[in-house]
Amino acid sequence: MHHFDAVVVGAGAAGLFCAGIAGQRGLKVLLLDHADKVAEKIRISGGGRCNFTNRDTTPAQFLSANPAFCKSALARYTPADFIALLQRHGVAFHEKHRGQLFCDESSEQVIRMLLAECASGGVAHWQPCAVTAVRHGTAGFEVDTARGPVHTPRLVVATGGLPVPKIGATDWGLRLARQFGHGVVEPRPALVPLSFDPAAWAPFAALAGLSLEVAIETGEGRQRGRFVEDLLFTHRGLSGPAVLQISSFWQPGSPLRLALADTALTERLRQAKLTSRRQLGNELALHLPERLASTWLGLQDLPAQRPMPEIRDKDLARLGDSLAHWQVLPTGTEGWRKAEVMAGGVDTRELDSQTLASRRVPGLRFIGEVVDVTGWLGGYNFQWAWASAAACARAL
Ligand SMILES: Cc1cc2nc3c(=O)[nH]c(=O)nc-3n(C[C@H](O)[C@H](O)[C@H](O)COP(=O)(O)OP(=O)(O)OC[C@H]3O[C@@H](n4cnc5c(N)ncnc54)[C@H](O)[C@@H]3O)c2cc1C
Repeated sequence: MHHFDAVVVGAGAAGLFCAGIAGQRGLKVLLLDHADKVAEKIRISGGGRCNFTNRDTTPAQFLSANPAFCKSALARYTPADFIALLQRHGVAFHEKHRGQLFCDESSEQVIRMLLAECASGGVAHWQPCAVTAVRHGTAGFEVDTARGPVHTPRLVVATGGLPVPKIGATDWGLRLARQFGHGVVEPRPALVPLSFDPAAWAPFAALAGLSLEVAIETGEGRQRGRFVEDLLFTHRGLSGPAVLQISSFWQPGSPLRLALADTALTERLRQAKLTSRRQLGNELALHLPERLASTWLGLQDLPAQRPMPEIRDKDLARLGDSLAHWQVLPTGTEGWRKAEVMAGGVDTRELDSQTLASRRVPGLRFIGEVVDVTGWLGGYNFQWAWASAAACARAL
């Protein structure tokens, strides 16, 4: 039987980071992962450049059944802390959009940095190595692995979420949580394209490839989500950052409400009617992408070639209203294959927010995406992985 002070299952973002810190604090740590390659999600993230944090991270960018849970860990390990670590390792980065930080070269640099941190903490790294069973008794945990049984007083579950099963995602962490009596908030794909009924979508298919900034919202009251982001029309529906963001808030059966133009458009068109003899299509194209203007007039059955003075006020109002208050009903999401993150996960109400420790089973911890804390698009999910890992490792 091997003995370790701590065993971390899952060598992804949270597991690597936690193992490195714990090892450097003097613990004898084993890091295990069943996949062939280490940290595949870091590798593919951010288009290969890893959007590793967001400078403007606050608890407001996270969803959870227990929204206050993430505050403590996020406050004690900030984006500035991770930036300082990257700088110590000489990893160059840049800000792309709204506080989102990416590696200049490659996400491999983040993986190499985390592996170097583990090496300097003397972490034992068994990969690929499956875990077949976990038992808990008065002396701690017995973990059956493909390389033999391991004993440890501290078990850290860092097995991530369900997205992209083909690179190693499993529900192992959720099953283990249930095995030890923990509740699980029903997992669902988030940061995921939404799908539409093909027949209902057919009239909009002509817009495929068009991208524009919109306001998008769904839900009501505390469940309401609202973003101003870029929307992408596709042959099958809608995608782009606006839809990925809103997908985390979307509930089946709820419509999306989109403003493709602002509410002042009707008034601007009324003013133009008094001063210009432009055709309606040309006038609208001053306010919207040309392809959207012409397609939309067709959909609204309005005469693109008629001069502005001949367009009735009520038609201008109908046109402005249809663009400022467009409502569409998704039929579902594109599922775990396309999702970037899992919403839901191990219920935080039975975890300590300072240490990520289980309140039910002494020595058991859950960190990273397996926990019911889900960030918006933009580097927030990695920041949660770093922050929850640091909070856990410092208390091991
Ligand atoms: C395509 C894509 C792009 C993304 N881009 C970004 C981005 O740019 N910025 C951002 O903030 N977030 C991004 N994310 C989300 C981010 O990758 C995750 O939130 C983050 O990796 C979670 O870290 P984690 O350590 O909890 O889980 P993971 O990094 O997923 O690591 C979990 C590890 O556990 C292992 N594991 C699973 N089951 C078992 C088992 N039964 N036994 C042993 N090991 C197991 C897996 O092999 C994996 O190595 C992206 C996700 C995807 C899918």
